[in-house]
Amino acid sequence: APGMGMGMAPPAPPGGNSQRIDPAQIPRPPHDPHSEVVQYDSRSQQGSAVHPPAATSSFVAKDLGSCSPRYMRSTMSTIPNSGDLLSSSGMPLTIIVQPLAMPHPEEEPLQVVDNGDIGPVRCGRCKAYMNPFMRFLDHTRFQCNFCTHVTECPREYMCNLGGDGRRRDWMERPELCRGSVEYNAPKEYMVRPPMSPALFFCIDVSTAAIASGATTSACEAIVRTLDSVPQPHRTLVGLCTFDSTIHFYAVRPGASQPHMLVVPDVDEPYSPLPSGLVVPLEANREAIDSVLKQIPEMFASNRHGAPVGTAAIKACIEALKPIGGRVLAFMGSMPTGGYGALKPRGGTGGGG
Ligand SMILES: [Zn+2]
Repeated sequence: APGMGMGMAPPAPPGGNSQRIDPAQIPRPPHDPHSEVVQYDSRSQQGSAVHPPAATSSFVAKDLGSCSPRYMRSTMSTIPNSGDLLSSSGMPLTIIVQPLAMPHPEEEPLQVVDNGDIGPVRCGRCKAYMNPFMRFLDHTRFQCNFCTHVTECPREYMCNLGGDGRRRDWMERPELCRGSVEYNAPKEYMVRPPMSPALFFCIDVSTAAIASGATTSACEAIVRTLDSVPQPHRTLVGLCTFDSTIHFYAVRPGASQPHMLVVPDVDEPYSPLPSGLVVPLEANREAIDSVLKQIPEMFASNRHGAPVGTAAIKACIEALKPIGGRVLAFMGSMPTGGYGALKPRGGTGGGG
């Protein structure tokens, strides 16, 4: 069969008295990174299912009604018809789902379905989305291919059936002729309006981190990374440093010196301000860069005690609580003080 490169070799007979597995006897799918790219149609021209290309092969998939194996792939392309057969086969039956897998550059982009205010058409019982395998009984009712429930479709979605029993528009609607589509979802699908992405950078300025150069490297890397942050007008950024206490920075555009807020309670870390510790990246870019450039100098002669890395991360999480976001921690020392302190694992190494 085409694309069946993964055939399993028959198991070798047990060799002598040795119970040890010989790695050379373990069947492996052949992998050649320079092999030709396989062109793969997800269904045949007659509309029947087609075996997917080997998982190790490089392929260009064309979605003809079943999704590309890049997005969903079964470990077995032939499913045993009983549980007994499956267990005696000794092979796992699993579906690998990667909805955001990167397509091959030669593949057509996913088509977007926009039904306006009516949104995606779905089964009235199991909520399955409209797909090429839902069966239309007449111009208004369809039967779910998952649960067989019959649902009446919205007036805007009605369509007459052709002589072949299919909707006359099935070729024009991607959700009726493609295995995977994107949906433009209406408001009801959102819990709340999309929020601004927020990033909190938490930087180690303890004696060890300063001495090893970790602090300088982290600050320089962050400045470089900020250039490639998507949507800088929406993205919010916050800065935090820590040694034996935690320091936040109230960044204001045009301010030459950053305003530092110290959190001395490292056993119960908190956010020093209820809000305003994250600021829009684009409008405050110069001020943020300036703080990041000054941090290694500000702490150059740092002689503070036990670093409180875990407590600092906790304080950043507290600061982000009202809006959500991501903490990116740059640790150059083991957190041995305050909330969540770690103990050295013994010996003289002391490294964790
Ligand atoms: Zn259903």
